[in-house]
Amino acid sequence: MKHILAFAAAGCILSGLAPAQVTAIRAGKLVDPDSGTVLTDQIILVRDSRIDKVGRGIEIPANAAIVDLSKMTVLPGLIDCHTHLADGAGSGDPLTQFKKTAAQVALESVPNARAMLESGFTTVRDVGAYRALGDVALRDVINRGDIVGPRMYVAGAYVTISGGAGALTGLAPDIQLPWDLHYGEANSPWEVRKVIRQLAHDGVDHIKILSSGAVLTHGSNPKSQEFTQEELQAAVDEASHFGLRVEAHAHSPEGIKNAIRAGVASVEHATMIDDEGIALAKQHGTYLDMDIYDEECIQEDGRKGNVPADFLEHDAQLGQIQRDNFRKAFVAGVKMSFGTDAGVCPYGTSAKQFAFMVKYGMTPMQAIQAATSSAADLLGHSTEVGSIKPGKFADIIAVSGDPLADIRTLEDVRFVMKAGKIYKQ
Ligand SMILES: [Zn+2]
Repeated sequence: MKHILAFAAAGCILSGLAPAQVTAIRAGKLVDPDSGTVLTDQIILVRDSRIDKVGRGIEIPANAAIVDLSKMTVLPGLIDCHTHLADGAGSGDPLTQFKKTAAQVALESVPNARAMLESGFTTVRDVGAYRALGDVALRDVINRGDIVGPRMYVAGAYVTISGGAGALTGLAPDIQLPWDLHYGEANSPWEVRKVIRQLAHDGVDHIKILSSGAVLTHGSNPKSQEFTQEELQAAVDEASHFGLRVEAHAHSPEGIKNAIRAGVASVEHATMIDDEGIALAKQHGTYLDMDIYDEECIQEDGRKGNVPADFLEHDAQLGQIQRDNFRKAFVAGVKMSFGTDAGVCPYGTSAKQFAFMVKYGMTPMQAIQAATSSAADLLGHSTEVGSIKPGKFADIIAVSGDPLADIRTLEDVRFVMKAGKIYKQ
């Protein structure tokens, strides 16, 4: 397809101001997750980084570049609420972090960010990096335009108990870790507050705490609970002083419920959530951010011998339990967001989770809402992202088929615009 892209300077009368770049997108079909409807024959006017107007029969300014997506389905940029873009090249074992310098990990992360954006995810909530603050640096270079990637909201580090789910474990006790590999460790309400104060000062956008053991951590038991109720409450309270929301990693029923009672914005994984947990999530309005696809990658990598044996042991049966609980929680009316744990599966393949969300109970529109309007709500940025509306960032993607008839068309995104700039066409 050939498109005309000419950003004329017409209309600029104030000297010293750059003329606005105006783009008019012709959308054959336009998915509006806010109303759960699909509009036809729409025109989207984009002025610089923002959406100016959306509607049928809107007048196109003479200086506008035209993007013709009249034969495609246009959607707001997708949002993955659970990624780890700053961990470098993928590897099944966190211990490989010890074989790399921080610079190596940072530079290896550059293609992760590009793959994420080019697959249609224009925003991510990145929920922790092994090397503390690598994600902050990645966010900032993307925002400066130095490298290509999605808009990132970052956690900075894992807030974890010593030897817990977010700690780098598996080493002899006499090994001293450098600061950036144990930055988020805390073992009392006041230590939790201290580490959150440091993270807020270092410019993070939200806080990631771990309230149960993990699958992909050595010496961990996903069925355990980590942190006390008091420590989790301290985390949510301290984070609120800086306007930050908290997400909690939790697999075990008690770890999930403790986090919900403490007031976290979302529970990540939520694998073994029980009936009481589902009721609590509904009552508190807590999002569940359930990564129900990545089991496929853990098992596949396991067959290839790329996953440590203890991780596969932790994982046994949890995949199916999580998928069944996804259906149960969703049917019960719990708020669901789209999060994949990107990094477990290769970067750029997050959209494969949509088909599983549909298989386990959602309509295609509901799965799209989880990754757009609901995700934006969870992030606290509904006025900026999550739908194609005037005033929001011009984060716009397109697919050639109809994702409401076949959700898997989202695995092949053909057009990507982020903040008014085209990255894929
Ligand atoms: Zn994760």
